[in-house]
Amino acid sequence: MERIGIILLGPPGSGKGTQAKELEKKFGFVHISTGDLLRKAVREGTPVGKIAEKYMREGALVPDDVILKLVNEALDGVDKFVLDGFPRNTSQAEKLDDMMREKSGKITKAILLEVTDDEIVRRLLARRVCPSCGRVYNLITSPPKDDNKCDVCGVQLIRRSDDNEDTIRNRLSVYRNETAPLIDYYERKGILVKIDAEKSPDEVFNAIVRVIGAH
Ligand SMILES: [Zn+2]
Repeated sequence: MERIGIILLGPPGSGKGTQAKELEKKFGFVHISTGDLLRKAVREGTPVGKIAEKYMREGALVPDDVILKLVNEALDGVDKFVLDGFPRNTSQAEKLDDMMREKSGKITKAILLEVTDDEIVRRLLARRVCPSCGRVYNLITSPPKDDNKCDVCGVQLIRRSDDNEDTIRNRLSVYRNETAPLIDYYERKGILVKIDAEKSPDEVFNAIVRVIGAH
């Protein structure tokens, strides 16, 4: 059986993680998030994790070869998967294509979740984090059960200092500059699909399912 992969593209706050989890739950796509892979490698103190930790501690971007190694390992023995947070640039996309060729599989769709900057700002300003356990909430999409308190610890939730409008708009402009060439890359390959992700999570999910044809 041929291995198939789907890529979810979109700015922070576009719902990539939520949609990837649904694809995993309903259709058995293995959800591969580079953020999760990095945190796990660091937590388990693997050789790659130790290298990654050094960069993350300094607030620097983890180099491509480290990320690629993690993704390569995560893809082993996986027949269908959805990538969230990877690739971030065309160089990573090209290496991913090489990797898929070696594993005799291919990326069948790159799905771009489109959300305007104003909506992203609105969503990210509603984000709250528990200062004690680090769990992340969103007052719009995933609010805590009890008014502004962590479901697990009961501690008052806070807004991260970098979740303010100026910083968010800055991050978005960096994101758009970085990913524009990546979007072109998949468009040229004829596998890019754009989905309006300002709709409800259910509507977005149904649109994704139509695009990939439920497997
Ligand atoms: Zn907590």
